[in-house]
Amino acid sequence: MRRLFFLALLPLILWADAHIFVYHRFGDSEHTSTNTSITTLRSQFEYLKENGYKVVSLQTVHDAISNNKPVSDRWVALNIDDGYKSFYENGLPLFKEYGYPFTLFVYVEATDKRYGDFMSWEQIRDVQQYGEIGLHSYAHPHLVSLSEEAIIKDTQTAIDSFQKALGYPPRFYAYPYGEYDAKVRKIITSFGFDLILNQNSGALLEQSDPHDLDRIALTGENLLARKLRIKTLPTKWITPQIWPKNSILKTIHAKIPIEISSVEYFVSGKSWKRIKVENGVVNETLNLKLTRSRTRLFLKTGNRQSSLILVRE
Ligand SMILES: [Zn+2]
Repeated sequence: MRRLFFLALLPLILWADAHIFVYHRFGDSEHTSTNTSITTLRSQFEYLKENGYKVVSLQTVHDAISNNKPVSDRWVALNIDDGYKSFYENGLPLFKEYGYPFTLFVYVEATDKRYGDFMSWEQIRDVQQYGEIGLHSYAHPHLVSLSEEAIIKDTQTAIDSFQKALGYPPRFYAYPYGEYDAKVRKIITSFGFDLILNQNSGALLEQSDPHDLDRIALTGENLLARKLRIKTLPTKWITPQIWPKNSILKTIHAKIPIEISSVEYFVSGKSWKRIKVENGVVNETLNLKLTRSRTRLFLKTGNRQSSLILVRE
């Protein structure tokens, strides 16, 4: 959400908020935290159909935001991370039945080395008749804790293998575990991907940064209707951008160029608190000791929100 940055304050109106959702496993009850049952998937697909949502490809999203064309409130893009066999066996038939496009983000090493739970390249070649294939790193590492050299090596190895197996280079990249910071983002962006996707809970606007798109996880119980109500709070986060020194979060400093006088903020493991916004700026001293090595920060007003993830190196 870093490209959103306007000079004047704007009234709280106008933007269409599209959504990108991410799934992992399908009809695989052994892995409940990453699974979506087929009953749930069917009820979600029915909900989208009955409520006039249009399931679009990431190519459509890319064409709109890179040309400043309108994004519809009714657009939903569906992503599947990792490339588990259960997508091929249980999920794909339903996507085909509804004719819904999707993007499958491949964890390349798992496919290359034929790890038991994952799809083969042959299956992925079959899948690409119905959807897009993107990159989800080579070794599925925690990128924030890697050196610059190691991040480059993982990404280049993944691109080379992908290209060899599918005959074209990947254009979309999703961070493993949704974890990144300013350094990771800069390196991954330097590979020239058209879209880079995180896993921060937020919506998509036509002004969204194509190299920092929010995706909402959709596993477990059926929360689709609730998650479709999430809208974007246009926010330029100034600090923090990386894990703070000594794990002390000193301040939250952000620009929110809309006409509001306060927002609520939330830090993982703490409770929601209200803070003031003055002339589109939040600048609050917190001095909070972060106790979780992965900490999410949220700013929200009503159903508009912006979030980021901080990862300890
Ligand atoms: Zn993953």
